[in-house]
Amino acid sequence: MSFIVAIDGPAGTGKGTMANILSKKYNLLNIDTGATYRCVALEMLNKKIGLEDEEKIAEMLKTIKIEMNNQNGKQKVELNGEDVTEKIRSKEVSEIVSQVSSIKQIRLAMAGLQRKMAQGKDVIMEGRDIGTVIFPTADVKIYLDANVEVRAQRRFKQNQEKGINMSYEEVLENVKMRDKNDMEKEMGALKIAPGATVIDASEMTIKQVERKISKIIDKKIKQKSKEAKIYKIRPETTWKKIERAIVKRLIYTFYRVVFRLEKVNEENVPIDGTVIICANHLNTWDAVGLVTATKRKVNFIAKEDLFNNPLLSWIGHLFDVIPIKRGMRDMEAMKRCLGYLKNGTALGIFPEGTRRGLEKGAKVQNGAAYMALKTKAKVVPVGIQGTFKPFTKVTLNYGKPIDFSKYDSKNPEKDELDKATKEIMDNIIMLTKAGK
Ligand code: C5P
Repeated sequence: MSFIVAIDGPAGTGKGTMANILSKKYNLLNIDTGATYRCVALEMLNKKIGLEDEEKIAEMLKTIKIEMNNQNGKQKVELNGEDVTEKIRSKEVSEIVSQVSSIKQIRLAMAGLQRKMAQGKDVIMEGRDIGTVIFPTADVKIYLDANVEVRAQRRFKQNQEKGINMSYEEVLENVKMRDKNDMEKEMGALKIAPGATVIDASEMTIKQVERKISKIIDKKIKQKSKEAKIYKIRPETTWKKIERAIVKRLIYTFYRVVFRLEKVNEENVPIDGTVIICANHLNTWDAVGLVTATKRKVNFIAKEDLFNNPLLSWIGHLFDVIPIKRGMRDMEAMKRCLGYLKNGTALGIFPEGTRRGLEKGAKVQNGAAYMALKTKAKVVPVGIQGTFKPFTKVTLNYGKPIDFSKYDSKNPEKDELDKATKEIMDNIIMLTKAGK
C-alpha cells in the first residue's frame, strides 16, 4: 500500500521547498511534476517544435525519456540521458512551459508518466492537478497559495541565486501569465481539489508551513496504521478455531443465563452454503448474541469504530467481523462481503444500519438485498425480541430463507433492490412480533 501526499498550487508558493523538506522528513519519493513539463518544453525548444505542430509533438512524445532521482537530498532531472536540472529552469523554458503544458496530448502523456513514477511507492508529488486529476484519492491533499507579489519576489530571489537574469517586473509578469494560463487550462486546470487543505503561505515562514502540513501528514499516518490493524485478517489457524469455540461457548452461556436467550427455528439457517442472515438491530449486545448463539459461523458486518475497543477488536478478529465505514459508500467492505459470500459463508447484517433504525425512521440500507441478488444467496430473516435487561427473556426468531432468484442478478435496478429490501424487512418485523 502506498502513501501519497499531493501538493498543488500556483507558481512560487514554496511547493518545491516543502516537498523537499517533507520528502526527507517522511522518507517519501519527491516527484516534481512541473519538471516533467519543463523537460518537454526544453525538448521542444531543442528540436524547434512549434506549439501547434501536433504531429511532431506526437513523434517527440514517443521517444522522450524523462527521469528523476534524488541525489544527496537534491533532485536530479535527466532528459534523454542528459542532466538538465538547471537548464529546465531557464528563462526560455519558463516562458513557454505553461503553454506547453496546456497541450492535451502532452498532458495525457505526462499524467501517465507521473503515475508510473509513483506506482507502488510512498511519494510526495507537487504540481497543479495532482489532487484533482493524477491522484484524486491521495492520502493528503494540500493547496498551497500565496499572493502574487510574494510569489514573484520569491521566484526573483531564487533566480538570482541560480544566476538567471530576469528583472522582478519580468518575473511578476511571468508568474501572472502562468497563473492565468494554469487556471484556464481545458485539461488539468489549477483548482482546489475536493478535500484539500488550503494553506495561504503569504505571511507564513517555511517552518510554519512545514509544521502545518506535518500535522496533517502525522494524523493521516496514524489513521492509516490504525486502519491497517482493523482490516488485517487473522489467519484461520487451529488455535484460532479453538479460541473461537471457547469464546463462543462462554458468551453463549452468559447470554443464556443473563439474557435468558432462546432460539426459535434455528434449523432455518442452512448448515452450509452461502446465506445472508438479516436481523433487526436493538442494541450493542444483539450482534454478539446472534453470532455466538447461531451454530454456524456467521461473519457479521459491523461499524469500524467497534475495533477501537481492544476487547471488541479481539473478538471482532476472532469471528472475522467485517468492518464498515459509516456515512459513506464503503466499496472495500462491499468487496470483502462479496468475496466471503463467493466462498460459501454465512454473512450477518443489520439492514437498518443503525440501532432501532426503523423506530427512528432511518432509511433502511439496500446492501443486503444487493448482495443477495448479486450472489443469489438466500436471506434468513431473524426477529430479535427482548430488552436485553438482565434476567429478562431475549428471543432469536429465525424465519424461512427468502429466495431472490426471481430478480435480475446481473444489474439489479434500484426499484428491485427497494422491493427486495422491503421483503426482508417485512419478514423481520413479522418475526419480531411472532409468538408475542
Ligand atoms: O511547478 P513549475 O513552475 O516548475 O511548473 C511549470 C509549469 O508546468 C507550470 O507553470 C504549469 O503550467 C505546468 N504544470 C502543470 N501541471 C503540473 C505541474 C506543472 O500544468 N502538475
